Order: sequence, then C-alpha cells, then structure tokens
Amino acid sequence: MTRSSRSGRPIARRSLLAAGVLTPIGVACSSDNDARPTTTTARRRPKALTASDTTIEGNPFQLGVASGDPDAQSVVLWTRLVVDPLAEDGLGGISDDGHELVWEVADDADFAALVATDTFKTEAEIAHSVHVVVEELSPDSWYHYRFRIGSFTSPVGRTRTAPTDGTDLQTMNIAFASCQERQAGFYTAYTAMAADDLDLVLHLGDYIYENPGGEGERFAPGTLAGTLASFRAQYGAYKRDAHLQAAHALCPWLLTWDDHEVENNYAALTSGTDKTDDAFAQRRQAAYQAYWEHQPLRAARPTGDALEMYRSARFGTLAEFFVLDGRQFRTDQPCEDRIIAPIPECPDIDDDSNDMLGSEQETWLLDGLAESECTWKILCNQTVMSPLRIGDVVLNLDQWDGYPQARQRLLSGIVDRDVSNVVVLTGDIHSAGAGNLTVDVDGEDRIAAHEFVGTSITSPGLSGLVPNAADVITTDTLGIDYLNVVDHGYGRCRITADAFDTDFVMVSTVDEPEATTRIDAKLTVKAGTPGMKRR
Ligand code: FE
Ligand code: CA
Repeated sequence: MTRSSRSGRPIARRSLLAAGVLTPIGVACSSDNDARPTTTTARRRPKALTASDTTIEGNPFQLGVASGDPDAQSVVLWTRLVVDPLAEDGLGGISDDGHELVWEVADDADFAALVATDTFKTEAEIAHSVHVVVEELSPDSWYHYRFRIGSFTSPVGRTRTAPTDGTDLQTMNIAFASCQERQAGFYTAYTAMAADDLDLVLHLGDYIYENPGGEGERFAPGTLAGTLASFRAQYGAYKRDAHLQAAHALCPWLLTWDDHEVENNYAALTSGTDKTDDAFAQRRQAAYQAYWEHQPLRAARPTGDALEMYRSARFGTLAEFFVLDGRQFRTDQPCEDRIIAPIPECPDIDDDSNDMLGSEQETWLLDGLAESECTWKILCNQTVMSPLRIGDVVLNLDQWDGYPQARQRLLSGIVDRDVSNVVVLTGDIHSAGAGNLTVDVDGEDRIAAHEFVGTSITSPGLSGLVPNAADVITTDTLGIDYLNVVDHGYGRCRITADAFDTDFVMVSTVDEPEATTRIDAKLTVKAGTPGMKRR
C-alpha cells in the first residue's frame, strides 16, 4: 500500500502484514492451492528491491544518514546524495535532475529481515535531499535502516519508534547537544556519545555556524554570502564529519535551531547585523530551506519563508518533549542585543510587547503542558531561561533575560496550571549550568521548572568572551546550582518515573581528534518534588 508523507510524496509500499503483526498459520493466502500444506512463517517480509540507477559516479553517501521525529508508528529517515560535499553551486556534484534510490528498514543490521522498503526519487530543487516517513512500524521498537543506489550502500543507522500513548515506559536515556562550530574544534563529544546507550538525541541549535574558515577536515567554506548554495555547502562541510554521522546513526534525533543556522542573534525577520529587511528575508528563506534539506524533520518542505518547527513528541507515559522555536517569532532584542548590559541603560527591556515565542506558540505550549499525561514535560529550548544577572548587569539580552515578561508568563502559567515535573534543556551559551526556575506567585517564590544548560560541542565558551569568567561568573553570583564556563561536551539524562537524572559529560579536548571524558556534575530532580539536587 502507499502512504503519503505530509509533503504529499508517496513514501511507502508495504504489506500491512509486514508491520510486525503475527500472521496465524494457515489463515493468510489460501486461494491458489487450498490443498497445499501451509508453512507460513510468522511474518511476511517485503523482497529486496533492485537499486537500478547506476548513473552516479563516486560514493554519494558522504554525508551519512539520520533519523528523527519518531512517533509510535513512524519515523523520518534522512540522507542527501552528494559526491562533492563542498561544491560551490550547493548541488554536491550532482547537478542533473533526479536519481532513484532504494531505502530499506530491517529488524537486523544485515538486512536479512526486511520490514519495509521502497524507492525514492530525488530532486535537484531540494539538493537531492531525502526525507522518507516510514509508517506502520511497531511501537517501542528498534530498527536498522540504509539507502542503496547503483553499487553504493549507505552506512547503516539505528532508529526506534516511541511507545504508544499510555504505555508505561520505564526508562529513557537521552543526550542533548548544541553549538558545534566546525572550525572551533573536533567533535570529540560525539565520539563520547557513541558509547552511551541512547534512545534519543536532542539538538538545541547552532548545528552550523555561518562563519567561514578553518582548514583540512574542519574547513567550512562559509555562508556569509547567505545564498542557498552557500548554506548547502556549509551543511556539506559539517555533515561530512564521521563522528557527527556516527552520532546520528545511533538513534533518532529531535532537533531545533537557534540563531547561527541563519545569522548571529537574528530575531524573526530582523537581521542581527545591519542587513536590509529584503536581504535578510532572502537569507532566512535560504537558510530555512537548507536546514530542512539537511535534517530528519517531519515538517513539510518549506514553501514560503516559514518552517514549521515547534512540535511535541511523546514517549508513553514517561516523557513528552516540547520542541521550541525561540527564533522565528521573537521580537527584536531590547537594548540592541547588548551583552553585559546595565539594566538602567536598557529601559526598553520592560516593554510589554517583547516576546520570545509569539502568542500562538506560547498558547500551544501552555495548553500542551496542562494537557500532557506524561510524568516529565521537557522543553527543548534555545537560549538560557534562568536569569543570568550579576547585580543590575544582564549578561546577555539575546537570552530569555531580554524577554522577562514572556518568561514570567510562561513560568507563572506553569504554576497556575499546576503542571509538575517540568524540565528545560537549553543550549546557546557554550557553558554548562543548572538551576531551578522560580517565579513569584502572590509574594512567594515557587519552583516552576528545572533548567539544565548543556555546554557546547566545540564553540568557544564564556571564558573566551568575559575576562576572568570563571572568577566573576559563578554559581554564587548567579544564584544557580552548577556552572562550568570552560569545558566542552554534552548533557546525558536518564529518565524514569521516579527521577530525571542529568550528567554533564565533558571531553578533555576539542583541539585533537581523540579525547577522554569525565562526568563534571550529576544532578537529579525527583518526580513530584520540585527542586534539583546533586547526586
Ligand atoms: Fe552557539
Ligand atoms: Ca546561539
């Protein structure tokens, strides 16, 4: 049968019986020879298809594979055909119109037990990127997937579906990552992540940076031109990294973006630099399209200048992930995006019209939090939500600190709706930290949520931005529970019905391809008991 993805392309041809449903012996297919003894196997599996397109010369799977946005029946598979990842025209060395590849999903890594397969025709218009929504999968199940074209076979990825709503899932292991400027270092954090037994990876933004530079394998050609071709080449430069590819192949990812996928500190259709509105709108449209082309997103192919980014993903009764978009709808930062800004110099910080999520997304989020039947409600968030102020100096007005009214509405909305067990996972600041998010309700400080901020995969930390950062910016001056402004790495969480445990995993270096890892801090939130603790 054929199903359609949300973008309307046919995506699957497979038997209902192949969906993991056991077929009772002797029931199926009795019309042609009723006398023949039945030796039906438990499952009927699709036959392997021939990858007959032999017109591509050179390995077209140099950007690896990925999967993402899982639900209980389906998951998105991704790859993009390129033979020259850095090609200046952005077409990856494949300029002719379309190529037919075969995708395969199997129970086993050898693909002896196929579960689903079909062909997919690429288009030059979307840079030969591939998005396949594989449907009718079994809930709460692991699968292997790959792509084939001519004599070339892609690396094999592992992916999984979510349990159905209401399923009592006991445990989930996730990692969260952000800020991976290619020129700034090696992706040793992703090497470390490969040793974890993960169900899901969250990427919280700054997957690429628009800056050119670097050399060798860390060369990034740059998107200062801001064209679709240059953004595509930038993804080519980033995604050719073997460690990043290995992390994508571990499990499905749930991604959101921050600013550098487009331009530093942009806000909706306002440039973070001094571009004209028209020039920036064109840049954003190109950046959004290139982002969509290169990530395993369920979102429909962008048609205008918008991309559907905020969404939620549920895992049984254990966890619901609310993926936020803090860029597409925010108002311009007050006080001209200043960092280290004395509040008396920024009266416009108190402007009631300042907004981070936009009213539609904010309503969706608060309604979703109130209605969620999952134990843990997890916000996948771009910029730091906790107040980072020292005295009357605000560290960074691009964060929620520049939008205090929006933060107040969200946190008091959580308390007003009696939503418990809310965790905020955050990127952006290239430093690790953790603290409770409190809000004043009728003169009483209430804990509305718990924020864990992952450090960067590679991007330079606060220690390079603020003189004596480690001395000036401390847990005491900020009033938070944990801080590390020096190291690179990622966050790892073990989620159970009783607790949300976070480990801050740090790598010894990003200046060399090899590193050792250590856990810098372990924190926990107990279900039903507001407030994080060290473990
Ligand atoms: Fe960043
Ligand atoms: Ca950022």
